Amino acid sequence: MVLAGVLGFPVAHSRSPAMMNAAFAELGLDWRYVKLPVPPERFAETARALPGSGFRGTNVTIPHKLAAHAMADELTPAAAAIGAANTLTFEDGRVLADSTDAGGLLDALGDDPRGRRALVLGAGGAGRAAVWALRDEGAEVAVWNRTPERARALAAELGVAHAERPGRPADLLVNATSLGLHGEDLPAELDLEPAAVVADLVYGPAPTALCRWAEAAGARVVDGLEVLVRQGARSLERWTGRAAPLDTMRRAARAV
Ligand code: NAP
Repeated sequence: MVLAGVLGFPVAHSRSPAMMNAAFAELGLDWRYVKLPVPPERFAETARALPGSGFRGTNVTIPHKLAAHAMADELTPAAAAIGAANTLTFEDGRVLADSTDAGGLLDALGDDPRGRRALVLGAGGAGRAAVWALRDEGAEVAVWNRTPERARALAAELGVAHAERPGRPADLLVNATSLGLHGEDLPAELDLEPAAVVADLVYGPAPTALCRWAEAAGARVVDGLEVLVRQGARSLERWTGRAAPLDTMRRAARAV
């Protein structure tokens, strides 16, 4: 049996095991995907030891994405540019780090963002991946963040605009903040402008307030579970070389 898993702390809430194990079963692969709760001080040594225990790769989630980038022997262009990694692949004694958060968001959006005005809310790890991905695909990107200095710094580093307020008009709005994670309503002071396409990276047991607002405003809505499925699909394809069974993964992710 080949092993894969998700390194995080905590990781009990992760939907990835259900999604990935359903995909392996659908593909007829003798693979197993497990939760790997590892505290930050043990991250690098644990990751290095995993191939010796039969692991081919892992996903990496909060709080280890920067550490995964730092400990890798090799980075994909996305991981190098984003400065963080969510996927490790163990190959010939080496650790390759990738960020499928970027490509996963683009896959979930489903059409070409070239020339579109994109507004990314959030300048943390997910915001960084979203800004890089959309800019790399030729969108006109602006980034807003609750703490404006972080957005200003990210905008300067990646060569995009800094949005002074979240209500700036855009064709594509991406929420990469953790707002909504606890089922909270949209704060009135956000005063968002409706966009044609709205993507929310946050997901939970029910549609987020942002997804409900966007749907009511007539937007095409991409929710955080679709982004989760698409980033997971890219990781699975990297490890196995097989096309990911997206519908099976969607069903499993949404059934949790
Ligand atoms: P992070 O690095 O900790 O960044 C958190 C971001 O949220 C920062 O921009 C922070 O702003 C902002 N924020 C937190 N509370 C806020 C509030 N009350 N109002 C406005 N902004 C607030 O986290 P991350 O890794 O970027 O993840 C962000 C979210 O994306 C998480 O909920 C995560 O679960 C989700 N995510 C989903 C996927 C997926 O596959 N669907 C993938 C990656 C991440 P400040 O700088 O002002 O603190």
